[in-house]
Amino acid sequence: MTETPTASPLFGTLAVIGPGLIGSSILRRAQRDGTIARELVACDIDPAVRQRVTELGIADRVEADPLRAAADADCVILCVPVGAIATVGAQILPVMKPGAILSEVGSTKQSIINAIAPALRPDIPFVPTHPMAGTEYSGPDAGFATLFDDRWCLLTPLEDTDPAATALVETMWHRLGARTRIMDPAHHDRVCAIVSHLPHLLAFTICGTADDLADETRSEVLDFAASGFRDFTRIAASDPVMWRDIFLNNREALLEMLARFMEDAQAMARAIRWGDEDFIVDRIERGRHIRRSLLENRQA
Ligand code: NAP
Repeated sequence: MTETPTASPLFGTLAVIGPGLIGSSILRRAQRDGTIARELVACDIDPAVRQRVTELGIADRVEADPLRAAADADCVILCVPVGAIATVGAQILPVMKPGAILSEVGSTKQSIINAIAPALRPDIPFVPTHPMAGTEYSGPDAGFATLFDDRWCLLTPLEDTDPAATALVETMWHRLGARTRIMDPAHHDRVCAIVSHLPHLLAFTICGTADDLADETRSEVLDFAASGFRDFTRIAASDPVMWRDIFLNNREALLEMLARFMEDAQAMARAIRWGDEDFIVDRIERGRHIRRSLLENRQA
């Protein structure tokens, strides 16, 4: 993981399609670091995003057409919403150079792999990844070069992905500041359902419930939002298209985790109803313990 700062660039040309929060953070770090690629290309369908990326100066070349961005790239990273990843991938695969690497950063894995599978080429290794880093903001202005520092990036290569390509992508993520772990895609989806997707589902739901309550009672519920609720609103401020796609693409795992959560919430409700102090204290202590472990692992 520790490399000399003089390491030579991993790629001649790296193309980032969708330079939003994640894509522009990759570009910023790659530009600052200089050991990831000699040339950085950004591509977005939105003229306003292209204009902003040009103004920010975080790419050597800005393209409107994904085919032009991908044609001479040694590695293409798809950083578009989950629902668009397989479509854009299938569009660019036919023009990619033999031996170039195709990667993506979507928050779900199995459905993307299934959707892109018919378009994959034996001479283009496909390395799906998921950097476990982000904020509630989106777009090219939201990115920053240190976003991935000390965060996990999970890689879910296919059985037939060339291990050398996976190793190259892993090194790229180390140079972007992240720690890496290789994981089975279905396992990834279950893990992320509980640590990321369910918390977002709860945040969107609780904000909706509080808003409905304020309407019904014509009261100022939201004016007095205290710290616990405020933390939920930060998560609930996330991009609607991105989260719609994540929920629909990780349906099975998310519904399974939600069912388990509802059972546990029911158990807590029962303990409160019957005054079961030990149960209540035990659950709260488990929460405190988890928070402490995250702090120790520098993930909080
Ligand atoms: P974002 O800031 O909204 O950036 C996505 C960019 O892709 C936008 O500029 C968007 O343009 C563009 N785009 C959408 N469809 C496109 C297409 N068909 N062709 C070219 N460009 C297209 O989103 P993000 O937060 O960076 O998320 C990007 C990906 O990273 C998603 O798959 C997400 O699941 C994953 N991810 C996100 C986080 C996080 O916390 N945010 C963490 C890990 C992984 P418009 O503005 O016009 O839509």
